[in-house]
Amino acid sequence: MDSRAPEQQQQPLHLVFFPFLTRSHMIPMLEIARIAAERGVKVTVVTTPANAHLVQPTIDRANSRPAFPHQPHMDLRLIPYPSADFGLPDGCESLSAVPAPALVPNFYAALFSLRGALDTLLRDLRPVDALVSDAIHVWTTALAAEHGIPRLIFQVFGLFPLCVENETYLHRPYESISSRSEPFSIPGLPHPVKLTRASMAEGFNSLYMLGLLHESELNSYGVIVNSFYALEPDYAEHYYKVAPRKVFLVGPVGLAGTHPPAAEKKEEKATACRDATLRWLDAREEDSVVYVSFGTLCEFSEEQLRELALGLEASGHPFVWVLRAEGEKWMPEGYEERVAGRGLVVRGWAPQAEILAHRAVGGFVMHCGWNTVMEGVCAGVALATWPRRFEQFVTEKLLVDVLKIATPVWEGFSSVVDEEKVVVPAEALAKAVKRLVGGGEEVAAMRRRVRELAAMGRQAVAEGGSSYEDMSCLIQGLMLCREERNKSREG
Ligand code: UDP
Repeated sequence: MDSRAPEQQQQPLHLVFFPFLTRSHMIPMLEIARIAAERGVKVTVVTTPANAHLVQPTIDRANSRPAFPHQPHMDLRLIPYPSADFGLPDGCESLSAVPAPALVPNFYAALFSLRGALDTLLRDLRPVDALVSDAIHVWTTALAAEHGIPRLIFQVFGLFPLCVENETYLHRPYESISSRSEPFSIPGLPHPVKLTRASMAEGFNSLYMLGLLHESELNSYGVIVNSFYALEPDYAEHYYKVAPRKVFLVGPVGLAGTHPPAAEKKEEKATACRDATLRWLDAREEDSVVYVSFGTLCEFSEEQLRELALGLEASGHPFVWVLRAEGEKWMPEGYEERVAGRGLVVRGWAPQAEILAHRAVGGFVMHCGWNTVMEGVCAGVALATWPRRFEQFVTEKLLVDVLKIATPVWEGFSSVVDEEKVVVPAEALAKAVKRLVGGGEEVAAMRRRVRELAAMGRQAVAEGGSSYEDMSCLIQGLMLCREERNKSREG
């Protein structure tokens, strides 16, 4: 007799994960896929050849880990990306690899053309129980329906920006506003939130794009978010009112120690950079260092980079600055010699989650990308916000006004559009860094709040926690869907 629980006697669920093609969307989605695999789900990740090296380390790690009671199982399948057909350079298969803004529409057109290849693959992979795809792949809702399976949306940002996006679509509060810099309120939210048109992501300003996203959301089975209930409780309730879909808050994922090693081509160089950075931090006092990083997609003008460098120098505090810019003509003369011993400039891929978890790091200047927010919150460090693009200005409101765990670097006019951006002066950054690492009751209170949230985040993903249980609900719900499908086939 089979002594296993009934759930284990059945064929495991088979979920196909199809991430968006850029690293910051892949990181959390792969972690979620890995967690599902460790909970007994058979996982197939679909991506394109030039992205395979980013996925493989997670797959190897999951498959090499015998987990009780299930042996994780993850596979990778590749579909070709037609870069050349859409006027993109060979191997340009990631948003961050697109060489010029004018080619971004080509990148999306090539992405939309993957429908046929994914359709063929889904047939080949049968039986499949659900397709989990990035919110950007709006066309996959209809594709999953054609295959008779549910589609789950992976939403790369949190519930707060998602609710703002939905309310903006439904109420169009900016219609009576004549200037891009005039603040207006977003109605219907649990907290007062004011934005300007200039600070709203390109997508939030496009009714067409918002309409597509909203429609594919309403026709999907539910939404998976890298967040946890205690971080955004009001918005978990609110989201359901506006878009009555199931929401699975399964984060925080990808905390320090769970990230795969930097999947860079120059692996050794990445490891050497990691070791040197962590050794540098080892020699610093607790909470004395500010970490400065702006994710994978933010660009800065040369003038802005120069002010940034001078601001860190003027702050007088130790810093680690992750620099992604090409060329360094803008670098103030003798800069690295002047800050030597106090400031470390990391070029290339930094082990961000590990840096943030280091006891020496007490403050974080960041761009409000959602993964970065989750990593900063879960590391329990005081935050300074400097949003640059996309939904980052909206997320800043959550951190500064709702959760009160961050201080803004700049409160003057800001815009998502490069041509409209004002150069934030060095003094503004120096002031924010001094506030973060310099102490004072205001920052102590911020740090207390963020540390409480960090503890709640750890509880959420532990067995029995809210995120652990949301993953259980997701698995059970999809099992029920399978039974219903089988019944209707038999009937
Ligand atoms: N990241 C990293 N090292 C780097 C730059 C980025 O580990 O040098 C990771 C970071 O930890 C986060 C992700 O890349 O997990 C960036 O995602 P986020 O959503 O914050 O920002 P985006 O890149 O989409 O702007």
